[in-house]
Amino acid sequence: MSTTVRAPAKINLHLGVGPLGEDGFHPLATLYQAVGLYDDVTVSDQLEWSVHLRGDGRIDLAEVPADDDNIALRAGRALAAHHGIDRAAKVEIRKGIPVAGGMAGGSADAAATLVALDRLWDLQTPDDELLRLAAGLGSDVPFALLGGTAVGSGHGELVTPVADNGSWWWVVVENDDGLATPGVYRAFDELHAGRDVPAPEIPSALHDALLSGDVEQLARLLRNDLQEPALRLRPELSATFDDALAAGAHAALLSGSGPSVLLLCGDRHQAEAVDAELAERGHRRTSVVPAPVAGAHVVEYV
Ligand code: ATP
Repeated sequence: MSTTVRAPAKINLHLGVGPLGEDGFHPLATLYQAVGLYDDVTVSDQLEWSVHLRGDGRIDLAEVPADDDNIALRAGRALAAHHGIDRAAKVEIRKGIPVAGGMAGGSADAAATLVALDRLWDLQTPDDELLRLAAGLGSDVPFALLGGTAVGSGHGELVTPVADNGSWWWVVVENDDGLATPGVYRAFDELHAGRDVPAPEIPSALHDALLSGDVEQLARLLRNDLQEPALRLRPELSATFDDALAAGAHAALLSGSGPSVLLLCGDRHQAEAVDAELAERGHRRTSVVPAPVAGAHVVEYV
């Protein structure tokens, strides 16, 4: 028996970062959206835990641990421990989400593993318990369960779905070299040293833009507080922003802690035209994706 679950990448339409707390974390106010880039996770019964990675040739798997450090295995063990059961599984991850790209691919794998093992072992874990387990694994894991569009508070792990009437299209521009999230937060702290950082808040106009489905309204409101610090670490990324706007995108935004860059387009047709123009300008790894899409869901149960 095996179960395959598909989980989406996330982007942050708003990523508001608050002052560094005594716990060493920054409070966040974020508006997540799930986009159509996916990892598929297949689980099957086995006596010992193991993880196996596959890519489509496009994704660099070198940085992804194939041992107990893989967050998918941590998720599997956490679920077994939660139910007090002594079982193990083989976890196969087919990656379509860029690694260390600011799109929470690891979190997607953790969420997919929770849902897949819950089904394989017929555990029927209630949603609130799955969300709590997810939050214990990482700030972005609960949203990968939920998908759609949602507000994230706390460190991002407290998620609440919000209304989104848009059919949005994005071009994702990947980068060959990942950016480690802790380094980007350190650059944020350096940038704000000696300055007051206000408590983060999502502007209500952003909810209005989602309700209206108006791309120009949304384009004006996109904001990511990690964009400036990430650009300090990777000044060459600004060329991608320039190319995006020259190619006709409505807006360009850094994805999470980067280095993936997101280009908001009016419809699929425009996104494909922008994508083609970026290819002309030498960007090799780009994808046209719809949003919002579903959270972690079973795609095969055999
Ligand atoms: P973050 O979640 O820290 O914002 P990210 O979204 O930029 O990160 P991820 O692809 O989720 O990037 O992975 C960040 C790091 O987590 C990787 O460099 C890798 O070392 C580690 N990792 C552990 N498990 C996984 C996994 N299943 N897939 C990808 N990376 C993993």
